[in-house]
Amino acid sequence: MLYENTITVLYVDLSSRTTRVEKRADLNDYFGGVGVAAKLFEENMKPELEPLDEQQPVVFAIGALGASIYPAINKTAAMFVSPLTGELGESYVGGRLALALCMAGYDAVVLTGKYSYPCYLSITGQGVEHKDARPLWGMLSEEVWRAIHDNETPRGNRSIMRIGPAGENKVAYASVNVDNYRHFGRLGLGAVLGSKNVKAITVTGDRNIPIPSDSFKEYFKVYRSIFDKITGTDIMKKYRGLGTAAYVLSLNAMDAFPTNNLTSGHFESVEAISAEAFAEKNLVRKMACAGCPVDCIHVGQFRRQFKNTGYEYEVVNTNYDYELVFALGSFLGLKTTDEILMLIDAVEETGMDAMSSGVALGWATEAFQKGLLSTGETLVPLAFGDTENYVKAVWYIAGAANEFYSLLGRGCYHAAQVYGGQDFAMTMAKNEMSGYHTGYGILVGSVVGARHSHLCNGGYELDRDHEQLTSQEMVEGLLKEEKERCMTNSMIICLFSRRVYDRPTIIAAGRAVGFDLDDAFLTRIGQRIFQTKMRIRDKLGFDLKQVQLPRRFFETPGLHGVLKEKVAKEMIDLYAALVAEEMKGSGSAG
Ligand code: SF4
Repeated sequence: MLYENTITVLYVDLSSRTTRVEKRADLNDYFGGVGVAAKLFEENMKPELEPLDEQQPVVFAIGALGASIYPAINKTAAMFVSPLTGELGESYVGGRLALALCMAGYDAVVLTGKYSYPCYLSITGQGVEHKDARPLWGMLSEEVWRAIHDNETPRGNRSIMRIGPAGENKVAYASVNVDNYRHFGRLGLGAVLGSKNVKAITVTGDRNIPIPSDSFKEYFKVYRSIFDKITGTDIMKKYRGLGTAAYVLSLNAMDAFPTNNLTSGHFESVEAISAEAFAEKNLVRKMACAGCPVDCIHVGQFRRQFKNTGYEYEVVNTNYDYELVFALGSFLGLKTTDEILMLIDAVEETGMDAMSSGVALGWATEAFQKGLLSTGETLVPLAFGDTENYVKAVWYIAGAANEFYSLLGRGCYHAAQVYGGQDFAMTMAKNEMSGYHTGYGILVGSVVGARHSHLCNGGYELDRDHEQLTSQEMVEGLLKEEKERCMTNSMIICLFSRRVYDRPTIIAAGRAVGFDLDDAFLTRIGQRIFQTKMRIRDKLGFDLKQVQLPRRFFETPGLHGVLKEKVAKEMIDLYAALVAEEMKGSGSAG
């Protein structure tokens, strides 16, 4: 905790409803954020048990510098065993959660066990309460938020996490919705909480952490320079302007915009679903995580007609960004912004990860077209561009409507194992693909990354910024970036601001609030966290050699033309060798 030189961990056992708080100075070796989360997760995980076994832990951790003490340092890391991949589940969220945890006095929370009936957990600086959530079970995400928001006191530095029906039904890519339009989206934390009978978690903090007067001048100087860099330069302008949806046109121009289940990297109707189209037709508001001046959260509005009525409509607001426009737009052939927002809203209300939902539906659509599935399984015909039936299918997945949808809710890798179509089930090591068909960087980077996310090592940037890298240069670049992101995620700096927080800025920011940081320390922290994550991955049984990539990745031309499977495999082998070298003497074979 800031100014305390120790890490305060709240342990909650849901089965026995017991709690304890430990001050762990030893965790300073992991600095904070993902480092502390990884160490606590490694201590508490049970590799021999199933991902949804009640003994598996969920860990939340805030960054070493607390929360919102500087702009765009306000995220919380979560670690769990992913029911989607069976391996390391790692996810991040913004909003107010980190600030609330910080003000409640906790750097990390470890949840184990399972409630005997649905409850929600209320965490404050004064302790923990377990509240009956049976009346909330079955409610949609927004309904739960409203019920808790309106009935719970106190307000203030409060954050509300909750799951929807998908989490209750243990859909392997169920999300946890947090505050307004923020999510622990990927890898199924919603299913893990659902399996523990946790409908929601509220965190309320009422402390104040004053900056000591003798260091305030220096702190304010550093704060001001970061603030000015964020607001007064072009570095983050795009996030506030059109938002990340601005990538729609640029990626489409590179043939890297996955369309119709990646049968193409180019979407003919792209202008109609561009960021400009959203801004002109739907944008009503921009919002921000706690203490961030960027306001990158874009909220769009659409009209929905009430069923069986005349001209009567409700107005619905929902958040959109690039990944959502790709997964629930071009990937499914949706041609208008209203239709995309409608599908986003269904995914939001049921509480599922947008990327996995869209990619799973993309596979199901092609499988239906090819006759591998019939309406006996899908209940409604699935066709690219058919929004109405996609909305129904989202509800079918969330509600596990039949055997097929239960299986689709385990992820399209698993569904394709049973129904066929593995060649076009677009996963990278069982995690549904992200919205970049840019080349080997994103493909290999997602496979080798600790959580198989495009955010592990930013491989798409290596693809975009370099004409041609050798295999060795590519894997070295991926490894270097993944370790660097382990370091920045120990402070949980928003990734959008990574060009603001270069190393000199991080060092100055840390020193101004009492951390004796230097380059060597930052390198060491990144390496230690990376090694911890690799150890966890080994213990959970991940083997790079077992990864099979769908053929479609090697058929559809992207930014660098058609990729060769042989080259991708060579890079994966090279990466495995680099990691084995890296792990020598760290307690793992790599
Ligand atoms: S840049 Fe956007 S996502 Fe990042 S902290 Fe600011 S508002 Fe949140």
